Amino acid sequence: MSSNIGVMGHPIGHTKSPVFQQAGLDELGIAETFEAWDVAPDELEEKVTTFRATGFLAACVTLPHKQAVIPLVDELTEAAEAVGAVNWIFNRDGKLVGHNTDGTGFLRALKEKTGFDPAGVDAVVFGAGGAARAIVYALKLAGIARLTIANRTVGKAQALASEFSEGRFKPDAIGLSRDELANCAPYAQLLVNTTSLGMAGGPAEMATPILADMISADALGYDAVYAPPMTKFLREVENAGATSAGGMTMLVYQGIEGFEMATGQKAPVDTMFAAIEKAFKSG
Ligand code: NAP
Repeated sequence: MSSNIGVMGHPIGHTKSPVFQQAGLDELGIAETFEAWDVAPDELEEKVTTFRATGFLAACVTLPHKQAVIPLVDELTEAAEAVGAVNWIFNRDGKLVGHNTDGTGFLRALKEKTGFDPAGVDAVVFGAGGAARAIVYALKLAGIARLTIANRTVGKAQALASEFSEGRFKPDAIGLSRDELANCAPYAQLLVNTTSLGMAGGPAEMATPILADMISADALGYDAVYAPPMTKFLREVENAGATSAGGMTMLVYQGIEGFEMATGQKAPVDTMFAAIEKAFKSG
């Protein structure tokens, strides 16, 4: 019999979620196995139907299903609507609620692991894909003062900026050229890489969207990329004398937020981090 909690994606072999989620369940004495489900796109609808079963708690949703599950759930939270993606589905008495914890997980990672409060700061987000959407949503929620979205395809940055523009919150959209970045990056207190640059197995593992000479020593540079833990972007941040933080904390906190909503209990954060750190060290 299948368990009442797990993560689904396709492929799913790479996922580290079961490692830290299981550590959390065990610590709280919750007798569930956090499973990894390889669900091909043509099996998705049938799989989601099983989440309505009595006793089923929640499913974490990863690539490529984050958008495809939207029409399959009964209700979306405000975060899922805003981000346009679902990364958790909760069973509430047979009703499926689609939620997104990527943005709030990012904010919690900033606050609890670096002590950084984005309220009132100037920031640059590199990238305009799925991770950028969640982070732009989060920074708006956190009351950022000024945001620039810098992306290779400027049209995508413009679309993202205009979608989230509201009242005094009006993000600028630019390309990745040094000239364009020179007007904002050196003055930003927060720089977030959400491009795939630097990602192991991605388009350019040794690349970075910005070099050290355009980063303030007072800034925090956060990389959504978590594999490898030390990216070229983070090296540039450190070369500038600024503070660096890698994306593993966002990954774990999106999971912790889902864990807490699924179980109704406070997550054993230290235990869950210890489990994933051990898993990363052993490869
Ligand atoms: P995505 O939707 O495919 O977006 C990819 C982004 O990278 C786009 O902005 C794209 O620019 C840019 N890009 C790709 N190749 C590039 C290149 N050669 N030069 C410049 N820009 C390039 O991907 P995503 O889901 O946002 O994921 C992006 C990264 O974030 C991945 O490494 C992923 O692992 C990581 N991530 C981490 C977490 C976490 O919890 N830590 C969560 C989600 C994602 P264009 O628009 O011009 O194509």
